[in-house]
Amino acid sequence: MQAQEEMTAARLMDFVGGEWVDSKAGAVQRVENPATGELLALCPLGGEAEVGAAVRAAKAAFATWRRVPVEERVQYLFQLKFLLEQHAAELAAQVTRENGKTLAESRGSVRRGIQMVEVAAGAPSLLMGQSLEDIAGGIDCESVRQPLGVFAAIAPFNFPAMVPMWFFPFAVACGNTFIVKPSEKVPLSQKLVFELIARAGFPAGVLNLVNGGAECVDAILAHPDVAGVSFVGSSPVAEHVYKTAAANKKRVQALGGAKNFIIVMPDADMDQAVAAVSESAFGCAGERCLAASVVLTVGEAHDRVRAGLIEKISELVVGDGSKPGVTMGPLISAAHKQRVAGYIESGEQEGAELVVDGRERDLPEQGHFIGPTLFDRVRPEMKIGQDEIFGPVLCLMPVDDLDQALEVARRHPLANASSIFTTSGKHARHFRYNIDASMAGVNIGVAAPMSFFGFGGAKGSFFGDLKAHGREAFDFYTDRKVVISRW
Ligand code: NAD
Repeated sequence: MQAQEEMTAARLMDFVGGEWVDSKAGAVQRVENPATGELLALCPLGGEAEVGAAVRAAKAAFATWRRVPVEERVQYLFQLKFLLEQHAAELAAQVTRENGKTLAESRGSVRRGIQMVEVAAGAPSLLMGQSLEDIAGGIDCESVRQPLGVFAAIAPFNFPAMVPMWFFPFAVACGNTFIVKPSEKVPLSQKLVFELIARAGFPAGVLNLVNGGAECVDAILAHPDVAGVSFVGSSPVAEHVYKTAAANKKRVQALGGAKNFIIVMPDADMDQAVAAVSESAFGCAGERCLAASVVLTVGEAHDRVRAGLIEKISELVVGDGSKPGVTMGPLISAAHKQRVAGYIESGEQEGAELVVDGRERDLPEQGHFIGPTLFDRVRPEMKIGQDEIFGPVLCLMPVDDLDQALEVARRHPLANASSIFTTSGKHARHFRYNIDASMAGVNIGVAAPMSFFGFGGAKGSFFGDLKAHGREAFDFYTDRKVVISRW
């Protein structure tokens, strides 16, 4: 049955040198709709040969692309933005089909992707360098930004359209050429993005798409003609990418996993806090690097947060994200569902109180669903208090005061995002000053920096120094050459 299905399923192609080309890879990954199990396509798992061809095309294109005036380069981005707007609904539907998140969530992620293209189109101003006359008698100094060559982005499964857009618009606006390697679990949204890229008229080889998994990543990391790599995914792989790319003398920014702590003070606006925490923890079925994972309830905030969350959870509608009214979709795969269910079991075994059990909810029979789950009395040393679960499982951890809450967050090796809910400016400042996470929210559930700010975490959540998008992208994708002149 499966073999027959696979014979008729579409096998995805790579986009190299301005053309759709067959991947020679023998191995494929099944791409399924996680809400229904329907086979959507077969993703070839390319390796050295496919990466080699894409790098050759990108390297050849770099020779001319870097000389195209920046004002002209960004015209292609304007055209791409126009096409993305025109096809935004189609792209959002594709994201939902392959990833499972609700249509509203997919639309939001596509919008965020388009905002990246908008900011990158400001390159004529953002690429400007600096100059100073007479650094010594009759000697002038200027710094100019120059592109470096071929860059690549390696993406995770949870935001199939948006994450590659955190990178390639900025890189090509700077005059580099680019290779996108989407997650092999969700390659279809990038197929659509690249159909639009082809229509936007970018010169051949400026933007390339290679399908594959770990072998493909390792081929990118090993290739001597790749100048730099932008990675988003889990922390162990981010660390591997960081170390290997650096050992091979590449620039690298590697965004990793998360365990996000949210602090609720007794003086918080509780309705606001509970609504924001619920959306943060269960939006995108918890498959989000900015998702609330542990709520540190300070003192008497605890009982009100717990009661509020129980009510919010009962209001969530779990199902196929493409259906109207559904507020929480499935997990990405059967294996991931099993992993999340394993965490629920471990929480029970380690003595946390299982307040709402998502496994017991009335759920669609097909697809990889697990309901929103709430644990109370979680301790930091429990597995559910330590590991990134990446599913709709929220842990309440009661603490006595703000400093104790900050200490729990500080001891954790990951530090991606964190928020506080309070009406006190003093508490908000104390939090902002002391929290390790580099995406911090005050009365905000999902502290997601927009396209004109940098995006990335700290400690084990980020490997590198320059973050994604915003002004830092222009630093990451260029060399700042300093020229000192005497005439
Ligand atoms: P993942 O690490 O399994 O995969 C990410 C990418 O790495 C994929 O393209 C995959 O093909 C490749 N890959 C996987 N294993 C590899 C290996 N051993 N060697 C080389 N390459 C390998 O991550 P995922 O499951 O797709 O995504 C979920 C993770 O991504 C979560 O940990 C989440 O927190 C993280 N994430 C982080 C951010 C952020 O901004 N920090 C954003 C989104 C997702």
